[in-house]
Amino acid sequence: MKVLLLGAGGFIGVNLTERLLRDGVHDVVAVDIQEEKIDHLINAPDSKLTYLHLDISKDEAEVDKLVADADIVVDLVAVANPSLYVESPFEVYDLNYTQNMKVVEQCRKYKKRLIQFSTCEVYGITAAKAAEQFGLSSKENPCPFSEDETPLIMGPVKNHRWIYACAKQLLERVLDALWKTEGFQFSVIRPFNFVGPRIDYLPSESGGGNPRVFSHFMDALLYGNKPMQLVDGGEAFRAYTYIDDAVDCMVRIIEDKNNNCEGQIFNIGTPENELTIAELATKMCDMFDEHFRQEGDPPRPEIVSISGEEFYGKGYEDCDRRIADITKARTLLGWEPEHDLDSVIFNTMKYFVDEHRKKQATAGA
Ligand code: NAD
Ligand code: UDP
Repeated sequence: MKVLLLGAGGFIGVNLTERLLRDGVHDVVAVDIQEEKIDHLINAPDSKLTYLHLDISKDEAEVDKLVADADIVVDLVAVANPSLYVESPFEVYDLNYTQNMKVVEQCRKYKKRLIQFSTCEVYGITAAKAAEQFGLSSKENPCPFSEDETPLIMGPVKNHRWIYACAKQLLERVLDALWKTEGFQFSVIRPFNFVGPRIDYLPSESGGGNPRVFSHFMDALLYGNKPMQLVDGGEAFRAYTYIDDAVDCMVRIIEDKNNNCEGQIFNIGTPENELTIAELATKMCDMFDEHFRQEGDPPRPEIVSISGEEFYGKGYEDCDRRIADITKARTLLGWEPEHDLDSVIFNTMKYFVDEHRKKQATAGA
C-alpha cells in the first residue's frame, strides 16, 4: 500500500514512519511543516521515504494530488499541546477541525480510507467529577472509558481547554455521519497519553515554551533551571502508553488484516499504567537518581505546587482521570500493550538522558 502520513514530523508521526520503513512492506509518503524530528529518516543513506514539506492549510492542491495517489491517508496534523488550547483557542479549532476537514473532503472525493487521530480528551472529565461540580454525590467513578458507550463530558465554553476536545469530537461525529450516510471509510484513533523518544522538546534547549508534562520534568532533572511544578497539586491521574506499543496498534489498524476496522473508533492506551502527576514527579526523580545521575548534574529538583491558572493562564481546566477501555483493540485487532509503567518511564527518560549526554559531549569536545 502507499501510505500518506500527514503530520509525520511530529512525535507520533516520526515513530510510526520509523516502524513502517523498518517493516518495509508499504511505501510511505510523509508530509509536515517541521523536519527536525524526521531529518534522520529523510537523510538516511538509501532512504526509501518520500518526504514533502507541505502545509495542509495552504498547500491544498499538492495535498489533494497526494491523497489521489495514496491507498490510505493517516492524518496526525493538530495542535496537540494543552497550553495552546488556552492561549490560542481559535487556531486550535481552525487547524484541528477546519483544516482537517479539507483532508476529509479530499479522501471523500477520491474514495480513500482515512485514519484520523482524535484524542482521549473527547471523554472530557469523569462523571464523578461532573457530579461533584453539580453538588451531587457519586458512589462510583465510571472509568475506564469505552468508545461507543461512555458519554463525553466537557466544561463551560469559557474554559477554553475544551476547544481541542470539541474540535476533535466534532470531526469524529462528522466522520461517523459520513460513514452512516455514504459508507465513507474511516477509523478513528483516540490516544491515551503516549510517551517515548522524540516527544516534544526541552524548554531549556528551545528558549522556553510549554510542552507536555514529561518534557517539563526531564528539563528540571537535566537542566535544573526550574523546579518540577505540579499543576493544582498534581492530583490528576494519567495512564501512560509506550509509543512502540501504540505504533504496533496503529499498524494493525492501517493494515486491517481482519477487515473489521471500518467505521470504528479505537482507544489506544494502557489501563494498568495509571498514576497521579505528583507520583510521576517523584518516580522520575527516584529513577533519575538510581539509573542516570552523573557528576555535574543539577541537584534533585524541588517539587512545588502551582495553580492551573498561573501555569497555563485563565481558561484551563484539567481532565481529572483518563483510563482506556481497550477491549475493542484487544478483540478486533488482537493487540495488547507490552510495556508496564516503569519501563514506559525508564525508556522515555533514557532517550532524553542519552540525547542530553551526546550534546554535553559535543559541547565539551
Ligand atoms: P505533534 O505536535 O508532535 O505532531 C503534530 C504534527 O503536525 C507536527 O509535526 C506539526 O509540525 C504538524 N503540523 C502542524 N500543522 C501542520 C500543517 N498545517 N500542515 C502539515 N503539518 C502540520 O503531536 P503528536 O503527539 O505526534 O500527536 C499526533 C496526533 O495525535 C494529533 O492529532 C494529536 O491531537 C493526537 N494525540 C496525541 C496524543 C499523545 O499522547 N501524543 C494524545 C492525544 C491525541
Ligand atoms: N502538568 C503538571 N506540570 C507540568 C505540566 C503539566 O503538573 O509541568 C499536569 C497537567 O496539568 C495535567 C498533566 O500534568 O494534569 C498532564 O499534562 P500534559 O501537558 O502532559 O497533557 P495532557 O495529559 O493534559 O494532555
